Amino acid sequence: MTYIKVENVSKMYKVEKKKIYAVRNVSLNIDQGEFIILFGPSGSGKTTLLMLLGAIIKPTKGRILYDRVDITKFSEDEAAMWRHKNVGFIFQKINLVEFLNVLENVMLPMYPYAKDFKKIEHKALELIEKVGLMHRLKHKPAQLSVGEQQRVAIARALINNPKIVFADEPTSHLDTETGRNVIKLMKELRDTYNVTFIVSTHDPEMTVIADRIVKIRDGKIVKES
Ligand code: ADP
Ligand code: MG
Repeated sequence: MTYIKVENVSKMYKVEKKKIYAVRNVSLNIDQGEFIILFGPSGSGKTTLLMLLGAIIKPTKGRILYDRVDITKFSEDEAAMWRHKNVGFIFQKINLVEFLNVLENVMLPMYPYAKDFKKIEHKALELIEKVGLMHRLKHKPAQLSVGEQQRVAIARALINNPKIVFADEPTSHLDTETGRNVIKLMKELRDTYNVTFIVSTHDPEMTVIADRIVKIRDGKIVKES
């Protein structure tokens, strides 16, 4: 069933009176629970498209519908609330909080909304178990390998029970094997929680296990397979 409809979306930036189209006239349908790899070289528009899909920025043109709700019409507050309810982000820069341990880092996004602290801790422990870091619970980020840090970021992205997770080049700081394991882990989490995943990469080695590969170049979708 179609979950997201991207309709003729463009994002244009003006830099010194010059128009730069980061995303040009993209249309795309995404099903609930799909695992999509967004594949393209540096500068092709991957980050911009993920930010548009995640209601972090607004398109210059076009609509993005989630179950018929047009997220491009949201005010900033509405967008923030919608993100909190529906979205998880895994950024290229892992950005864990260095003075918090693994458990605290995973729980952190929920602190502003915390009513039932025990329930959030319970969910965090479940996720930390799923990403294989129970033996690192009280460790600080600096005591972890980069691959382990990325696993913490993955658990953190799922703490709010999102319907969709965006991961922007999550393997770019990892060696090939660790990177593949991170992608595999995300796919397992998709299977467990039926979360839609959209994962960007410029690395062909990472495209092996997607349901669908969407190729992007110069802001345009050039091929789907
Ligand atoms: P990717 O993530 O695939 O490397 P980006 O989405 O970051 O690509 O960028 C796509 C294009 O849009 C690039 O040419 C980039 O320079 C341009 N771009 C991205 N963000 C901005 C911005 N805020 N202002 C101006 N140009 C931008
Ligand atoms: Mg990028």
